[in-house]
Amino acid sequence: MNQTIDEFSLISNFFKELTGQQDVAVGIGDDAAIINTTKDHQIAVATDTLVASVHFPEDATAEQIATRALCVNLSDMAAMGAIPKWFTLSLCMPKEWVSSEWLQGFSQGLARVADQYNVSLIGGDTTAGPLTISITVLGENPIGQSLCRDGAKPDDIIYVSGTLGDGAAALHQLLNSTLKKNDRLIERFYQPQPQIDLGIGLRAYASACIDISDGLIADLGHLCKASGVTALINSQLLPIHPDIKQAHSGQSRSWALTGGDDYQLCFTVPLNQQADFEYWADSNNFDVNAIGNMIPLDHNQDYLKIDNQKVSITAGGYSHFR
Ligand code: ADP
Ligand code: MG
Repeated sequence: MNQTIDEFSLISNFFKELTGQQDVAVGIGDDAAIINTTKDHQIAVATDTLVASVHFPEDATAEQIATRALCVNLSDMAAMGAIPKWFTLSLCMPKEWVSSEWLQGFSQGLARVADQYNVSLIGGDTTAGPLTISITVLGENPIGQSLCRDGAKPDDIIYVSGTLGDGAAALHQLLNSTLKKNDRLIERFYQPQPQIDLGIGLRAYASACIDISDGLIADLGHLCKASGVTALINSQLLPIHPDIKQAHSGQSRSWALTGGDDYQLCFTVPLNQQADFEYWADSNNFDVNAIGNMIPLDHNQDYLKIDNQKVSITAGGYSHFR
């Protein structure tokens, strides 16, 4: 295989054409697939795989691995505005780890998150091999109300939830054993907070939505590409936690833009809905910040400008095959 291919080209070259059923409302290319099941409901389906030392450090506890695995999958449900209901678990683990202690911790972590978000484990697969956890989550939406990546229009306001750069700051601490660990960040890494309630509320306001797993530039880039618009971002408006700004003033901006692992939502709201949306978000204590707006895509196909500078949407983000 060509070693420089990224996973997005790989998916579009080899798998994207395989979707074809009429009841598939949204196929490959969004945070989850959407299937029309009844005349009133759609099911959202998303899968994410976590590989040891790629998606979490080797020394993570079983409970930490389990909470991270389920939370990152639930985040794709939030991005679609879906209510998560069920999940399957495919667990591949080294033979020598099959101690009841490891499995006890793993199952406790899973149960804690499953309880919190009211989702049931309904099946899976168990094999021996390098530690890899693959979860498929299924959720429900009223028909036609799923949030997709392709609905943004010129003039829409671009928002993000929470703070950006926490995931990258946490990873920086986890990979540098000499650094003092910050409990807030370690929790953000091992138990990101899928924005399910925000996603459900956004059905009434957002024109497009994505969750930020690979960094704002990469993920907002996917949204702009799917919608055919250009995002103008004002970097002064990026929400960065004051602790990170203070402790890592040199890195915090680039962590917020390209770091990934934040699992916040990035979404667009039409200008004429802005006031109603902000009133609703404020009344319901959702922490959201406007960071820019959409304009028509120019003929150069520049999908993203930050402080009026063109930015390549492949500049950030982790690529598994590069
Ligand atoms: P996310 O970051 O939201 O989990 P990904 O970047 O992993 O999304 O995937 C992008 C899109 O490509 C998704 O719609 C996903 O379902 C699809 N996809 C990824 N890998 C494959 C594959 N091997 N076969 C078919 N579709 C895939
Ligand atoms: Mg996603």
